Amino acid sequence: MNGLWFMKSAEERTVRMADVPGMPPTGQLLVGLARLGQAVRMEAWRNAGPHNLSPLQADIIVLLDGRGGPLRQGEIVAALASTPPTVSDAVRVLRKKELVDASRDPGDARVTLLGLTAAGREEAGRLNVQSEKLTDAVSALAPDDFAAMLRGMTTLMRELQDRRAIPVSQMCLTCRFFVPRAHPDPQRPHHCNFVDAAFGDAELRVTCPDHEAA
Ligand code: SF4
Repeated sequence: MNGLWFMKSAEERTVRMADVPGMPPTGQLLVGLARLGQAVRMEAWRNAGPHNLSPLQADIIVLLDGRGGPLRQGEIVAALASTPPTVSDAVRVLRKKELVDASRDPGDARVTLLGLTAAGREEAGRLNVQSEKLTDAVSALAPDDFAAMLRGMTTLMRELQDRRAIPVSQMCLTCRFFVPRAHPDPQRPHHCNFVDAAFGDAELRVTCPDHEAA
């Protein structure tokens, strides 16, 4: 599968706006993405909840919930593109809050696995409810703009993953079940072999529990 399957040629993407002030379009896009990231992070701080979670602690809970089972600490570090000491600190606090517990890997007694307690699973349920403010803002996008944004974002993520700038996500573009442009229908051109169904850009998954690496 070609990582550039969505992209137009460089020539097609060239924008001639010599008279428009400010940094060039690529810089404008990157500043915009940074602003959106700030908005998401600020909402995470506001959503600290009853256990006063930091964004990283919340990310660990959502990750453990999404993977459906315990993980090694190294797997958490890799998935969240963090560092061992930072994750270690967050896990220590989460264990103190009784949201995460540790057990021995049945396959290797030297390895510790980290999983959610019942209270941790309950907290994951709260965290998985999307921010009303962010959801409202996204709902202002026209359907075509929503689909184009998801398509552009997943393409950009794929490029950054290939350059090892961000961790690998369980998304369609890296999934062995994904067949891009398998159908002539422009609204539902792609195919998911896991569920054997056609789908469109607006349904591309950035994280999917059924993902298997291509
Ligand atoms: S299994 Fe999930 S990630 Fe894979 S193609 Fe289907 S929807 Fe996409």
